[in-house]
Amino acid sequence: MSNALTHADWQRLAGDLTFETRAFVDDAFVAAVSGETFATVNPATGETLAEVASCDAADAEVAVAHARRAFAEGGWSRRAPGERKAVLLRLAALMEQHKNELALLDTLDMGKPIASSLGDMAGAIGCLRHHAESIDKLYGEVAPTGEDALGLVLREPLGVVASIVPWNFPLMMTAWKIAPALAAGNSVILKPSEKSPLSALRLAQLAKEAGLPRGVFQVLPGFGHTVGKALALSMDVDCLAFTGSTGVGKQLMQYAGQSNLKRVYLECGGKSPNLVFADCKDLDAVARHAAEAIFHNQGEVCIAGSRLLVENSIREAVVDKLLAAAESMQPGDPLDPASFMGAMVDRTQYERVRDYIRRGVEEGATLRTGSDSAAEGPGLFIAPTVFDGVTPQMAIGREEIFGPVLAVFGFDSEEEAVRLANDSEYGLAAGVWSQDIDRIMRVSRRLESGQVFVNNWAGMDQTVPFGGVKQSGNGRDKSHHSLEEYSELKTVWLSLVP
Ligand code: NAD
Repeated sequence: MSNALTHADWQRLAGDLTFETRAFVDDAFVAAVSGETFATVNPATGETLAEVASCDAADAEVAVAHARRAFAEGGWSRRAPGERKAVLLRLAALMEQHKNELALLDTLDMGKPIASSLGDMAGAIGCLRHHAESIDKLYGEVAPTGEDALGLVLREPLGVVASIVPWNFPLMMTAWKIAPALAAGNSVILKPSEKSPLSALRLAQLAKEAGLPRGVFQVLPGFGHTVGKALALSMDVDCLAFTGSTGVGKQLMQYAGQSNLKRVYLECGGKSPNLVFADCKDLDAVARHAAEAIFHNQGEVCIAGSRLLVENSIREAVVDKLLAAAESMQPGDPLDPASFMGAMVDRTQYERVRDYIRRGVEEGATLRTGSDSAAEGPGLFIAPTVFDGVTPQMAIGREEIFGPVLAVFGFDSEEEAVRLANDSEYGLAAGVWSQDIDRIMRVSRRLESGQVFVNNWAGMDQTVPFGGVKQSGNGRDKSHHSLEEYSELKTVWLSLVP
């Protein structure tokens, strides 16, 4: 299949799709122990796509036991890194072969445009390849001891890793977690979001085909408060690798404390500031990028540039250009390759975003484009929304909305811009638009943020770490730094006769 498929092609492919709906436990696709299922719904049409196994604590217990056994047997954990690499590269090749189908599953399940899902697949496959290729190039250390000893510093896998992921980039977030964890030799249990379980189950089929040993990779679809919580409280899970909201991240840390002090890596929410200085190069380009930064993926992006801070001398000009850019990004059928935005993931999220838009109006911000009234029809679409004259006291200026709603603030000095930017409980991403290298470096260093994008938004690749500071989390996905998170250092000290 070529990526240059038309809207009609994607509609036809969607009609032909079949779904794996069972959990993947110890190399077999099985119903939940309870026999319960939950519906997964296409938010663009309101149609139920499938009934999926609803796992709970009983399934978690079984899967953890298999994962632990697989780890202890060593068929993966003690296998030569070069051999693990070969299996993971096979999985990446299978994902490449099936990327249109995988992209379609995410689009149908959570409403994102197909063009965007295809971009996610490239990211997911690249991530898997990167970690597979890295793992046989990581060396241990020999400590600088005297000649009466040999101090070895070895890297070992942790054991059982539970990866709990969100719905906004279902397969890409999954890859960011499972690729380094598997490459490092761990047994991995994946819990996809209850709002987007289908691509994870297809991935399980491909993992089986690629030859991952039984029990090394398992998938438990279900809800957070049932199977997610059981994994997080398990005495036999060694690490939680989580991407999701800050509120749930805080709960996971408590669960770790209540159980076995498992490692907890969190990638959480954000309210990211995008700073535009009057000395930036090209206002048209800045406005277009600022619009993409918030409207991409319907604003359901952890690093959405949701706070636009503009120097007051150019603010009106930037907002005018922003409105024109927003106009060209209206939501459309997610199966149309020309759609820039699709549907909100579900009715809860849709109502939540509309509620924030109403609050923005009530709190006195100026609604420059967008509307708080409901869309017609079953599809959960929200138009790009821009508020000007936002202040840090307003809910739309502080809280993560996770929708296509931009809050524009004005500032008069660099000092004020940095203060406004850092006035947040979050610290995930930030942008700086300027041509003054001294200012760029001064401001980049002072921004409390896991990543700073200079004259771009969301520029990154697999070689750089991704993660947040403050309440945006403590983990780092991607790059060799994430491999370090999924392995433990062991010291072996040998006494020698000099
Ligand atoms: P969420 O926190 O509601 O859910 C995330 C996952 O946690 C889901 O699989 C869910 O079932 C599970 N979960 C929920 N309650 C649980 C519990 N008590 N115990 C164990 N697991 C539980 O988040 P969401 O709505 O799926 O995703 C949106 C959030 O994710 C946003 O806040 C967004 O910023 C964040 N996010 C962050 C990043 C990042 O890299 N920092 C990336 C994507 C999304």
